[in-house]
Amino acid sequence: MINFFKFIVGTVIGSFISLSSIRSYRHESIIFPASHCDHCNHKLRPWELIPIVSFILLRGKCHQCHRPIGFLTLIGELTGGLIFLFNPLTLNGLLEIIFELLFLFIAECDYSYYTIPTWSLISMLTLTILQLITNGKLDVLTFAIILIIYALISLLNHYLKFIGNGDVDLMFLLFLKTDVTTIIYIIAISSFSAIFKYVIHHKHKLIPYAPYLGFAYLLLRSIKK
Ligand SMILES: [Zn+2]
Repeated sequence: MINFFKFIVGTVIGSFISLSSIRSYRHESIIFPASHCDHCNHKLRPWELIPIVSFILLRGKCHQCHRPIGFLTLIGELTGGLIFLFNPLTLNGLLEIIFELLFLFIAECDYSYYTIPTWSLISMLTLTILQLITNGKLDVLTFAIILIIYALISLLNHYLKFIGNGDVDLMFLLFLKTDVTTIIYIIAISSFSAIFKYVIHHKHKLIPYAPYLGFAYLLLRSIKK
């Protein structure tokens, strides 16, 4: 029962994160105006605001103008639910929940607008260091080595531009949080899934990489459980 409740809370927060990612890019308030359809401005009624359920009832379309709501909302709600379901409600668990929710926000921003807000990356770095401290895993030497690797890759990427700068920052964060084996798995899974998506559905020339990094990170975490 507690797991069901956790999942529900997660879906509501996931839904709010989807809304925040869209509104933050448009420099709109995340509170006002109330949730509405982006196409016809139809103000959503309570039954249209239930995470996951409303999407299924409405078959992914606005009740008034019948234009698509977008799968991003549904994916955000589901991911939010799973993030709460997979983490315990302890101090470390809560820090991890905030980390993963920020990751969800970043992934949605990158997916929709190919941009990652700097404040969200700085917040993730702060959280990562806090998590390393609470877990007693903050090793200064490892931290320094990873920082040097990060600086070199960032410099190389500055000239070659093989991926976005935000993606390099995210990989550095995940490297700091996990270990060499895990980061290799994360890069392999995310690259493979991004290429797969590109091959079957190549609409964009530019691939937003953060959602695939997030997917690989959450997948590995759920497998390890
Ligand atoms: Zn509409």
